[in-house]
Amino acid sequence: MKIVVLKFGGTSVGTIKKIKKVADIITEYKNKKYRVIVVSSAMSGVTNELIKKSFEISDNFSSSEHDVLVSSGEQVACSLIAGRLIHKGYRSRSWLSWQVPILTAGSHKNSRINQINKNKIMKYLKEGGIPIITGFQGVNKENRITTIGRGGSDASAIMIAKFFNAERCIIYTDVEGVFTTDPNKLTRAKKIKVISYEEMLEMASLGAKVMQPVSIQDARLNRIDIEVKSSFIKKPGTLITKRSNIINNKIVTGITSTQNDSKVSLIGVKDKPGVAASIFKPLSKNSINVDMVVQNISANGKETDLTFTIKTEDLNKTKKIIQQNKSIKFRKLILKKNVSKISVIGVGMIATPGVTFRMFQALANKKINIQVISTSEIKISVLIDKKNTKKALVALHKEFKLDNRK
Ligand code: ADP
Ligand code: ASP
Ligand code: MG
Repeated sequence: MKIVVLKFGGTSVGTIKKIKKVADIITEYKNKKYRVIVVSSAMSGVTNELIKKSFEISDNFSSSEHDVLVSSGEQVACSLIAGRLIHKGYRSRSWLSWQVPILTAGSHKNSRINQINKNKIMKYLKEGGIPIITGFQGVNKENRITTIGRGGSDASAIMIAKFFNAERCIIYTDVEGVFTTDPNKLTRAKKIKVISYEEMLEMASLGAKVMQPVSIQDARLNRIDIEVKSSFIKKPGTLITKRSNIINNKIVTGITSTQNDSKVSLIGVKDKPGVAASIFKPLSKNSINVDMVVQNISANGKETDLTFTIKTEDLNKTKKIIQQNKSIKFRKLILKKNVSKISVIGVGMIATPGVTFRMFQALANKKINIQVISTSEIKISVLIDKKNTKKALVALHKEFKLDNRK
């Protein structure tokens, strides 16, 4: 039995007209004799609207109720898709994740799918039905609704593909595939035909919203090939697969940028063992994610400067926590919004010396100042002023020959 999992993102089901188009894509696969399992996100904007409402009720809205609230968007989209398929003469129905059930572990807002009960869906597929399953959510041991992180329908699709042993898992979205950089930010971005899990994971974690990072981890662990393509334009998309399937002669595969980072600097911190831990412990306790970190070596051995980045939405909370932290002493606290992390990513970097230099030189030529640097085996990230983001993307895209990539 050839099973295909088709996932539709928010923009693909954003209007009634688009939902009708989605139903046509689904029936094409059905007519090709596939057993089709559909996973849908909420109509675009709906999840954000629901979250906004929760903030209006309370700035400390219960996380279990948050999950009940925000998961409702997917219910609407799934019933509309199923309704359209029924209208077209097909057998279809919506399946809410607790009806499947899709089981999750972990905390509310951020659970992980760990088990999917196949029986009911299998029976329904064998009867010729097209199940339309709500993405982004599941149910926990206590029988409470959970969600699996923003953009989580990607992970739902991949875990469904795993448990049902699907032949194909296709992520339909509003762009033609994964590009060398966000095509909505740089029109000269080029579609990537094939990319490794490792590169895609870095790109997703470093700002390429097209795939949710957790979903790529799940795909990599379970060796699920993913096709990313457009819901609107019939063209081949991008294949995300294991590295050994790829002949790669590119040094850099993609470039990413972030939107809402802020920089925190503590100047003149009394330097003693454990000082960094005393700064970061209360931040981590408050679920504040610290990203890039640099600590300068103190000239006199007594004082040091420490800089790190966080998400801008955590800035006020971070400021408060640092100011109230009795276990550290420093001269000055500097907070800076509007910084952006630019990263170049590529497995080709491992075997190619000089990538760091080329990146720094290309930015220097454009008079872009680098504030913080971090590297891993397959990526280099720099923090720059946000107003230079576009300029940096253009320069690096050219430097690493992505402009004329075939
Ligand atoms: P969906 O609603 O289908 O889940 P998302 O909005 O989550 O879609 O992801 C698609 C968006 O990701 C695109 O509109 C694009 O602006 C953005 N994006 C960021 N980086 C990239 C990239 N490297 N390649 C393709 N799209 C990207
Ligand atoms: N609707 C959810 C969100 O906006 C899940 C998803 O789109 O994948 O985050
Ligand atoms: Mg998405």
